[in-house]
Amino acid sequence: MKLPPFEYACPTSISEAVALLASHDGEAKPLAGGQSLVPMMAFRVASPSLLVDLRKVAELREIRITQDGVTLGAMVRWRDILEDARLLTAHPLLVAAVEHVAHYQIRNRGTVGGSIAHADPAAEMPGIVVTCDAQIAVMGRAGARTIAAGDFFQGPLMTALKPDEIITEIHFPLWPAKRRFGFQEFARRRGDFAMAAAAVFYDDDNGKARNAHVGVIGVADHPLRLSSVEAVINGQKIDDALIAKAEATTSAAVDPADDIHASGAYRKALVGVMVERALRAAAA
Ligand SMILES: Cc1cc2nc3c(=O)[nH]c(=O)nc-3n(C[C@H](O)[C@H](O)[C@H](O)COP(=O)(O)OP(=O)(O)OC[C@H]3O[C@@H](n4cnc5c(N)ncnc54)[C@H](O)[C@@H]3O)c2cc1C
Repeated sequence: MKLPPFEYACPTSISEAVALLASHDGEAKPLAGGQSLVPMMAFRVASPSLLVDLRKVAELREIRITQDGVTLGAMVRWRDILEDARLLTAHPLLVAAVEHVAHYQIRNRGTVGGSIAHADPAAEMPGIVVTCDAQIAVMGRAGARTIAAGDFFQGPLMTALKPDEIITEIHFPLWPAKRRFGFQEFARRRGDFAMAAAAVFYDDDNGKARNAHVGVIGVADHPLRLSSVEAVINGQKIDDALIAKAEATTSAAVDPADDIHASGAYRKALVGVMVERALRAAAA
């Protein structure tokens, strides 16, 4: 299907990109890999008057690993993450989740910034940034600001971004070497969006879990952190009884709607199983 008409610009700096976005009264959109935006334009779900292509903004492509954690530039692609061996130790949960994103071709072009800005409730990256308390750095006409991932996602395809803002980078807090984690996803076919997924991590404190984080994907209109499940895990030894309690608490904490892929009741049960498996993987 042909795209609606649009103007095109390919800036080389963040400030130039922001100025271009601001010049079109909310009618311009950044273009990352085009993996969601171009189909949305083809289906007339989006009709921006100007596309601001970010591919030549080199500073958006960096992966930085420091004592403060991992920082991904918005234009880092799934493939860049999977090919960067440092991330296997610097942030293994991130790598485990990205292994479930789409197929080879899409991973060559899809970006972390595009995924977060697109805010698909079934996408892995929004779930990981919420689970990990990541900070999302954005730049707009009014300057730079940082948005906590937990405040960023407001509904399906809805975020806290203003029309003239671009995501510049995503910062993940330091990942301790001995942290335990699990990521489990159920999709109809490998590479499809998640029907339900769970990301879990905790720190081991003499055989008991501390600092538990539990995030779920695909069971609400945006990714969720489940504090009730974290409360079940914190201070406890991870054994069969605890895992069963965490599974039941997960299912009780969510209220997914029916859709064309599955009933809400099915997803409620499924996401409990995802948390159960993720906890088992973390404990193993
Ligand atoms: C067949 C198929 C299967 C897929 N399967 C999965 C999957 O299993 N899991 C998954 O998570 N994803 C999946 N995806 C999505 C894909 O991985 C991309 O993450 C997603 O499409 C975003 O693509 P993009 O980075 O090319 O962004 P684009 O399509 O270029 O942009 C998407 C949106 O983000 C905005 N945007 C882009 N960059 C920025 C920025 N820096 N700042 C502000 N706004 C920005 C754009 O204006 C647009 O609104 C799939 C996509 C396809 C086509």
